[in-house]
Amino acid sequence: MIQIKELSKIYHSGAGEVKALDNISLHVKKGEIYGIIGFSGAGKSTLIRCINMLEKPTSGSIKVNGQEITTLDEQALRTARKKIGMIFQHFNLLSSRTVFGNVAFPLEISGVPKDQIKTKVNNLLELVGLADKAKAYPSQLSGGQKQRVGIARALANDPAVLLCDEATSALDPATTHSILELLKDINRQLDLTILMITHEMKVISEICDSVAVIEKGKIIEEGLVIDVFTQP
Ligand code: ADP
Ligand code: ADP
Repeated sequence: MIQIKELSKIYHSGAGEVKALDNISLHVKKGEIYGIIGFSGAGKSTLIRCINMLEKPTSGSIKVNGQEITTLDEQALRTARKKIGMIFQHFNLLSSRTVFGNVAFPLEISGVPKDQIKTKVNNLLELVGLADKAKAYPSQLSGGQKQRVGIARALANDPAVLLCDEATSALDPATTHSILELLKDINRQLDLTILMITHEMKVISEICDSVAVIEKGKIIEEGLVIDVFTQP
């Protein structure tokens, strides 16, 4: 589903060059939950931003669902981005919109007719367990509820892949557990491929099938979670 080959990203700043990604290759299979773990500064955000086409790699290839995404023009990029859902550490909800309005937002941008939006949003809120919060504003929600809205919004355009950027790092352990369980349910129900970046081992051990360990822009280990991390 996601095939990355020899991907590098070099930033040029006043202080010189930073090799944020150094010749990374990995393969995320359809329907799996794939985790990328590493310390702060390892290159995780850069990698996810390259996959989401917010950043242009210096060299290398990224294929999502068979399509090479590193060479798309602006218009093709906008179309391709709709097939990639993303959730964030700090949720990034629109504070002036209700829960319903937040989930409807990407559908409105896509030009989906109003009655279809209503059905779709209500189904998504049902899926994430927030059917009774449609009229609430983000400020009235707990962190876990906000992330559920984020997940519903990310699924609105029926993405082929869901990217999770430290999606549980702002949540307490119990809420983290419930959000990870929800992601696992969605992965199974929709056969949705999920790629998560995290600095938390718990996230990897709790729901990931495969894992890559990233350090200073390089992948130092990769494989099934049960093979990479031996049990005590
Ligand atoms: P992580 O998400 O694992 O914390 P990042 O991808 O944010 O790591 O950063 C990887 C490296 O690239 C770090 O050394 C960081 O300082 C550097 N970096 C990230 N973004 C930029 C940028 N826009 N310009 C210059 N350097 C950057
Ligand atoms: P994260 O917790 O996701 O790693 P950071 O605070 O490292 O977030 O980065 C936030 C933003 O700043 C990102 O867009 C990243 O690309 C950019 N960034 C990170 N390091 C640098 C840097 N050294 N110079 C310029 N931009 C940077």
